[in-house]
Amino acid sequence: MDAQLAVIGLGSIGSMALWQASRLTDSVVGFEAATPAHGRSAVGGDTRLFRMIYFGKPDYYPIIERSRGLWVELETETGQDILTTTGGLSIGTANGSFINSLLETTRINGAEHCVLSREELAERYPQHNLRPDDCAIYDPRAGVLRTDRAVSAAISAAQANGATVLQNTPVHSITETDHGVVVTSGDRTWTFEKVIVASGGWSRRLMPDHLKAVTETHRIVLTWFIAEDGTQFSPENFPVFSRLYGDRSLYGAPAVDGVTVKASVDGPLDGRGRETPDPDSVPRELTREEIEKVTEIVTDFFPGLIPTIARSDAFPDLFTEDRHPLLGWLDENSRVYCATGFSGKGFKMATGYGHIAAHEALGKQPVEGLDFVRPDRFKTR
Ligand SMILES: Cc1cc2nc3c(=O)[nH]c(=O)nc-3n(C[C@H](O)[C@H](O)[C@H](O)COP(=O)(O)OP(=O)(O)OC[C@H]3O[C@@H](n4cnc5c(N)ncnc54)[C@H](O)[C@@H]3O)c2cc1C
Repeated sequence: MDAQLAVIGLGSIGSMALWQASRLTDSVVGFEAATPAHGRSAVGGDTRLFRMIYFGKPDYYPIIERSRGLWVELETETGQDILTTTGGLSIGTANGSFINSLLETTRINGAEHCVLSREELAERYPQHNLRPDDCAIYDPRAGVLRTDRAVSAAISAAQANGATVLQNTPVHSITETDHGVVVTSGDRTWTFEKVIVASGGWSRRLMPDHLKAVTETHRIVLTWFIAEDGTQFSPENFPVFSRLYGDRSLYGAPAVDGVTVKASVDGPLDGRGRETPDPDSVPRELTREEIEKVTEIVTDFFPGLIPTIARSDAFPDLFTEDRHPLLGWLDENSRVYCATGFSGKGFKMATGYGHIAAHEALGKQPVEGLDFVRPDRFKTR
């Protein structure tokens, strides 16, 4: 046995699982095909939104709360500045389905929030060009996460605790035996008691057929625009936002560099991005249609942004059919634990997911209330 646990993929979630596992054992090895936090993974694009008010199942809330605490712990342990609290705005038509379903989720999970009328919103946040019937839900604990900093910090913390990191070591196969899991990379072989698969948009290569059938790798596009007045869009003055009006949706983050505002087309109702065949060659160039769509929405929503894309890029993420992750054992007798399929919304909860994966994979008490993310929900098909 080479070690108690292996984590395959040291990106957003794998790095956090390694960090959390390293607090429980010094017998953990992380495999990364490239380097941790490399820019072609779902870590790419500098920032991700952290939100406590979100569209979807109330059941995520305990994971988000756990994650927030762990982001702060990661900052304290490593001295890195990772989560900047900016507040968050969800903007939509008053009494429309977007706002109503967000309010319903917060009613059930008890997330702290306040509703801003159009007038209050216009007065506090004049950056947004509002419609007569707009309103917003303000999320005081939302913010912006620095992705590459977060992943690098978690890897350093794990190494300081005794974890081994093998970079430029792509795993080519995992095979369960009666005694453990055999992992290969090229002509090298290791055996572990348990393995966590956290290889993001690449995970289908290591998955059984029934999970390949219910997952797709998606390409998600990010775009940035220059602010005419950077102060208006600074983290102190401009909360992260998500906005839906008719078929127009946009989300984004303040100018963490002082001038460049992230403003990208969102799909809160039908999920982000579209299928892409190969995570190693996600097309980075935007199509004419993508350029026209985001430019038109930014022109409409933000008079203070220069309506020309200043920077754009695209990154892979693994989506499941029901848009919930695959978090748990492949089946009840398996030694392989999945931590993948975060379907365009995993980063904010990366610390929480990493905590759950590490604890469960190392045989601690299973976390209750997570049936909706367990991989065996797809087993009966
Ligand atoms: C453009 C974009 C914007 C997003 N915006 C938000 C947001 O604002 N808020 C939010 O919460 N979420 C957001 N998400 C979702 C979130 O970023 C992802 O769900 C999350 O980062 C996925 O993490 P992961 O660990 O599964 O994948 P990754 O971070 O991609 O990590 C996978 C890692 O595995 C490695 N790997 C792959 N195959 C192997 C192998 N065989 N052997 C060893 N290593 C391997 C890869 O090199 C990579 O480093 C966004 C996603 C994208 C793409």
